[in-house]
Amino acid sequence: VIDFTELKIDALLVSGLPNIRYFSGFTGSNAFLLVTHDSQTLFTDPRYTVQASQECNCAVRTVTGRALHVAAAQFIQRKRLKKIGFEKARLSYEGYQLLKEHLPLGATLKPLAGVVEKLRMIKTGDEIARIRRSVITNSEAFDRTLKRMEPGVSESSIAAELEYQMRLLGAEKPAFETIVAAGPHSALPHASPTEQLLAANELLLIDMGAFQSGYASDMTRTVFLGKPDARTRSMYRAVLEAQQAAISAVRPGITAQQVDRVARKVLKEHGLAKEFVHSTGHGLGLEIHEPPRLGKNDKTTLAAGMVITIEPGAYVEGTGGVRIEDTVVVTNSGCEVLTPTSKEMMFL
Ligand code: ZN
Ligand code: ZN
Repeated sequence: VIDFTELKIDALLVSGLPNIRYFSGFTGSNAFLLVTHDSQTLFTDPRYTVQASQECNCAVRTVTGRALHVAAAQFIQRKRLKKIGFEKARLSYEGYQLLKEHLPLGATLKPLAGVVEKLRMIKTGDEIARIRRSVITNSEAFDRTLKRMEPGVSESSIAAELEYQMRLLGAEKPAFETIVAAGPHSALPHASPTEQLLAANELLLIDMGAFQSGYASDMTRTVFLGKPDARTRSMYRAVLEAQQAAISAVRPGITAQQVDRVARKVLKEHGLAKEFVHSTGHGLGLEIHEPPRLGKNDKTTLAAGMVITIEPGAYVEGTGGVRIEDTVVVTNSGCEVLTPTSKEMMFL
């Protein structure tokens, strides 16, 4: 729950859609949610009148003929609310100006960061169940597409098949643009699929995620088409060792940056420190990237109920890259790896 006293506000104007969904259940694309210590009011437009009444258990106000900002400001005036917190990373400058312009004299806007995101870090049993389902769907889509991964097939067609299978399995949509990166493309951590055809004796990196019942999954697997060279194989072993070491380190009480350090240390021992160019992982849930960030600077202490990814990688320009990523849930004693897909070297 939001601590209004601690934040020194009378109300929080929630404008981030995932945050609105978290509190109210509303899944539409245009809304504000005004939260006070004893009420929640959703503002939306007429396209969503029926949907909001079905999804939300809070008061719903359909706004016509004016911006939601104006309606929210008028409501704030009627309720005589004074100190209004807003989500500074989730409200446009234009929106801020509009709000400010229409607020009554004496009411002030206080920029806040990550208030709802912080609450969202610890998942409920229901949220974990949804993520688990999403993870299973994601892995099943991968399994079903494996047989199509062969020389002569384009990266885009593999991506299309993965996303098609996700949907057949009950996902609403991919959680992000599916990455299918063959050969040298795999050295780009966030490559977009191209018309490039897969070729023999190359690496194939696949990073995919689904949204199912609103919740994300995220997995990366790097497979071999035929027989890659010894250097590539040893890079795979190093990344897998780093990933497993980081997973073993995950438990309540450890900080996000400490887990990152564990993965980084293993890759350094293998001479791959500079090849590991991103952080070790991230939280996920209603969004694909949520706090905490398992990187060098995040001091968040992990706690039971957090769901995070562990995804170290190593990338060599011109040759290729390896990343291995699982979705894991922090438990009372350590963590549970939700991703069922094998991490053994896979030769197709
Ligand atoms: Zn991923
Ligand atoms: Zn990820």
